[in-house]
Amino acid sequence: MGDTVRVRYAPSPTGYQHIGGVRTALYNYFFAKSNGGKFILRVEDTDRERFAPDYQQDIFDSLAFLGVVPDEGPGFGGECGPYIQSERVSIYREYAENLVKAGKAYYCFCTSERLEQLKKQQEQSKSSSQGYDRKCSALSPDEAAARIAAGESHVIRLRIPTEGSTSFDDEILGRITRKNKDITPDPIILKSDGFPTYHLANVIDDHLMGITHIMRAQEWLPSVPLHIMLYDAFGWQPPKFCHLPMVMGKDGQKLSKRHGSTSLRQFISEGYLKESIINYVTLVGWAYDGEREVFSKQELEKVFDMSKIHPSPAVFDYKKLDWFNGMYIREKSDAELVDLLRPHFNEQGLVVGDDGIARIIPLVKERLKKLSDAPAMVRFLFENVTYHDKKDFAAKGDGLDVAIHYLKQALPLFENAKTDDDIDAIEERLQEISKADGVKANSVFMPLRTAITASPVSPPLFASIRLLGVDKAVSRIKAAITFLES
Ligand code: GLU
Repeated sequence: MGDTVRVRYAPSPTGYQHIGGVRTALYNYFFAKSNGGKFILRVEDTDRERFAPDYQQDIFDSLAFLGVVPDEGPGFGGECGPYIQSERVSIYREYAENLVKAGKAYYCFCTSERLEQLKKQQEQSKSSSQGYDRKCSALSPDEAAARIAAGESHVIRLRIPTEGSTSFDDEILGRITRKNKDITPDPIILKSDGFPTYHLANVIDDHLMGITHIMRAQEWLPSVPLHIMLYDAFGWQPPKFCHLPMVMGKDGQKLSKRHGSTSLRQFISEGYLKESIINYVTLVGWAYDGEREVFSKQELEKVFDMSKIHPSPAVFDYKKLDWFNGMYIREKSDAELVDLLRPHFNEQGLVVGDDGIARIIPLVKERLKKLSDAPAMVRFLFENVTYHDKKDFAAKGDGLDVAIHYLKQALPLFENAKTDDDIDAIEERLQEISKADGVKANSVFMPLRTAITASPVSPPLFASIRLLGVDKAVSRIKAAITFLES
């Protein structure tokens, strides 16, 4: 590759980081790394009405969680980046004024009442002309200067062609052509509060920051013709455009709350590891060779290749993310898992200390999909249990009498047990009993499982009983028999 690759992630702090945004950040970051280029973070916070400090902080927290660090920027907490557009307003204003001087843009003094009126008229007359009627485009520079000096509120509008069409080559989608008449004339580029519109600030910054590839969500595709007109007005060469496939739910609709978690912070609070998020989210719309799917961040920094991004919409598969998460959980050492699980135990009010967490790890490690699942799986070990439904005690096809019968068989075995070895021997003994009686193992073990854990689904039963202790096991079996006979 000739010129050094320079890309940016340019989120607006108008909501918590969506998993689609996370993917955009990762693609930019991996593309920069795999090409020996630079990754820049730019906060596009010019929409002051939708801005919230929490959302801005969430951008920084999200990238810190992912370990995605900008390569340059104005310096922040001892590190590079981010650029913040609201701190650069004077730059945009100057460039917009230069466009006015060059006759490519003009000051507009039309009041919002006039524009409302105009809109109504256009609707009523069903006129084909839509949008601003260019009234102020005819003002002389002197007249405009006088009105500004008199303190009249104004915006700057870009003169755009209404005839012809605008074309560009998207690196992912190919050649795209749009009719110029589909862009409402003449768009505002600098607002009356002196803030730039998204379009102006975005184009100026991509140019000033030397961005070579604009890699962003496809929802921005409709903005490209206008951006190209802005690049033309400034006399600049646009960067390459690379619009990423949409992220959809299984039903083919844009991924939203209806499908499940959508913001990174939700995924984190459910206990998805950064390894799984980075690995799986990168696969939503990108594939390495159609075979290999497991990649570390370091590997993706080497192998990520833009030509392997699919142009068509990509489906976010929550089950597949669970699979990755389970796999990465099992790669963690027990000591790492104590640290990772601690916040989830605290959050769910099961405060058992690091020792407690360490003891349950062997029980849950093989079956965890999300870290947040762990406390509920082992709560029965630390707290008293209550039974809810008698049916939970009977294996499929068995009556309650069978459950009671086998609990009564198990009870004396536990009453006589002293050591862990004795507990293991009980498991064998119960197996023998089920064989001798010609019943399935579950007929014997299901009542015991529910008696001990208060649930028909649990971590391995005998390992659980060893942690619980034989005395508690005995009292739970007795309590279960009482419950079933009541
Ligand atoms: N600021 C836009 C957003 O919040 C991104 C625009 C771009 O990447 O060009 O999604």
